Amino acid sequence: MLDNLTQRLAGVMKTLRGEARLTESNISDALREVRLALLEADVALPVIKDFIAAVKEKALGEEVIGSLTPGQALIGVVHKEMTQLMGGANSALNLATQPPAVILMAGLQGAGKTTTVGKLAKLLKETQKKKVLVVSCDVYRPAAIEQLKTVAAQAGVDFFPSSTEEKPEAIALAAIDWARKHYHDVLLVDTAGRLAIDEAMMAEIKQLHAAIKPVETLFVVDAMLGQDAVNTARSFNEALPLTGVVLTKLDGDARGGAALSVRHVTGKPVKFVGVGEKLSGLEAFHPERMASRVLGMGDILSLVEEARKGVDEEKALAMAKKLKSGKGFDLNDFKDQIAQMRNMGGMAALMDKLPAQFAQAAGQLQGGAEDKAVRRIEGIINSMTPAERAKPELIKASRKRRIATGAGVQVQEVNRLLNQFEQTQKMMKSFAKGGLSKLMRGMKG
Ligand code: GDP
Repeated sequence: MLDNLTQRLAGVMKTLRGEARLTESNISDALREVRLALLEADVALPVIKDFIAAVKEKALGEEVIGSLTPGQALIGVVHKEMTQLMGGANSALNLATQPPAVILMAGLQGAGKTTTVGKLAKLLKETQKKKVLVVSCDVYRPAAIEQLKTVAAQAGVDFFPSSTEEKPEAIALAAIDWARKHYHDVLLVDTAGRLAIDEAMMAEIKQLHAAIKPVETLFVVDAMLGQDAVNTARSFNEALPLTGVVLTKLDGDARGGAALSVRHVTGKPVKFVGVGEKLSGLEAFHPERMASRVLGMGDILSLVEEARKGVDEEKALAMAKKLKSGKGFDLNDFKDQIAQMRNMGGMAALMDKLPAQFAQAAGQLQGGAEDKAVRRIEGIINSMTPAERAKPELIKASRKRRIATGAGVQVQEVNRLLNQFEQTQKMMKSFAKGGLSKLMRGMKG
């Protein structure tokens, strides 16, 4: 996700290596590179202009104090401005209304609307315990109605049937009535999309909007379309009072232009991002974390939240503490982490969120992403005594042989696991100790 941009920006920061302070001239040089990186990322031109100007102004006033290097100081400014550019803070859904809270979903065909309705329904049901009803107002494609029915069943939420003979408003109003009578908290309204913006579609959705007065009107758009995504968002925003944007397919977006531009261009916040085809692939959008991710700082916070979603709350909290302090992380936790990673639907999604260095260490584990290898690792750890798991450095050669026999593996495999663990532990300690500043120092080279 957004890999190209991240690599380019890391390169830029390296150009400041060896400079003693931020000066007008070295800032200009670095920012020229940032500008190119953003152009390549397909960020809209006016957005780039405003962004660079803001960074320049702030950077010039920025003192390079203490142990900070100019590269770090500049990246700090870039991080802050990038966060602002994407809206500053997370913008949550507004569901505070007389139930049902009606959410209208708009967007072009293929943007991922129906999938997103399913994802959002699941998220609201599972994380906020909402009773959710979904309905399709796509009266042109019977297949779309069927698709929503399937998705609703997968998400475990209620589906309000509709047919192509009815009018979109009539369908939506009937669904609202039904939702009210059956005490649904939220009604998600899926709509018909077209391949491109056309007047008939705009007129229809405007009319629908006026009839149902949704508390949220979300525009769903494919992030991979870059500036085109942003332009479509702008057109919809001119026709409909949007309350937010959902950027889908961010998992396939190596450039990031839409994520960086859409807020600035439309003035509307990105509320969620789609990160996969599965119904669990929807995340609340956090500008600060996204900026960290783009700048290669990884995203420990998202990671912890993800862990919390799929796993035991208490365990996740304890783990978050350990991650933060770097203390007391032992093989038991290592095993838990591996098990959790499995719950979270794979290593790949997770790797995106780790800081580059940490991801490298975890990458060595990636061979273990296959279930079989993971089970072997678990087998080895299970063959250890609790004391050994807490203090793996105590494990002597004779015990290693026993453990290997117990797990039905070669001694080398036990050694490999212990090495991997040791490296991960080191990485976590250094990450915890220095936090972001340490990582940034790493960037200095
Ligand atoms: P609609 O026409 O707007 O309702 O679009 P659909 O919901 O049918 O989605 C179109 C395609 O995009 C489907 O193949 C989805 O699986 C895929 N899709 C939707 N959201 C995402 C996402 O966040 N990531 C990825 N990789 N695929 C997605």
